[in-house]
Amino acid sequence: MKIICIGRNYIDHAKELSNPVPGKPLVFMKPPSALLINGKPFYYPGFTKDLHYELEVVLKICKNGRHVQPEFASGYYQEVSLGIDFTARDVQAELKKKGHPWEIAKGFDHSAVLGTWVGLRDVQKDGNIEFELKKNGERVQHGNTRDLIFSFDYLIVYISRYFKLQMGDLIYTGTPAGVGPVKIGDLLEGVIYKNDGSTEQLLSCRVK
Ligand code: MG
Repeated sequence: MKIICIGRNYIDHAKELSNPVPGKPLVFMKPPSALLINGKPFYYPGFTKDLHYELEVVLKICKNGRHVQPEFASGYYQEVSLGIDFTARDVQAELKKKGHPWEIAKGFDHSAVLGTWVGLRDVQKDGNIEFELKKNGERVQHGNTRDLIFSFDYLIVYISRYFKLQMGDLIYTGTPAGVGPVKIGDLLEGVIYKNDGSTEQLLSCRVK
């Protein structure tokens, strides 16, 4: 199982961190040991003083494929969830400055929090998904996938040129604006809007 992540996939988020808007998807990976599931707590790591949340829509790859053609891309995912791409922002800033890879800032243990799955057809409205992150009960991020720079299908096509997609792989599709720090004791909750007008909390993570 691979955890494939996309950076800077919402213009507003790229701008808030003063990054250029990319012309191609920015792809990085987290190892399987980064996964944190079943509502387990996240323990604040000792190597950072500036841990940030990034709430993202996550795709679950449902069949194997390489060099996927655009007309078939939507057949590679049927379920989505919400995930947090935890980022040690201070460590990442150091690495970025040197032009080094990001792994230790992004792929450390339990840095990929994952919620429960919902069917795409239950949450897509006009082809888009609306979602939000609450920190200690207050909304801190609110996104809609209509603002994605690179659509889900485009990502499937692009990623599968380089990496074979395999059943069970996860794609973290990027975070909207509003990323920020967490501290010990914070409760993070990811909520998705369903197309029947209700909302569903898919993710809950306590920082310890
Ligand atoms: Mg991210």
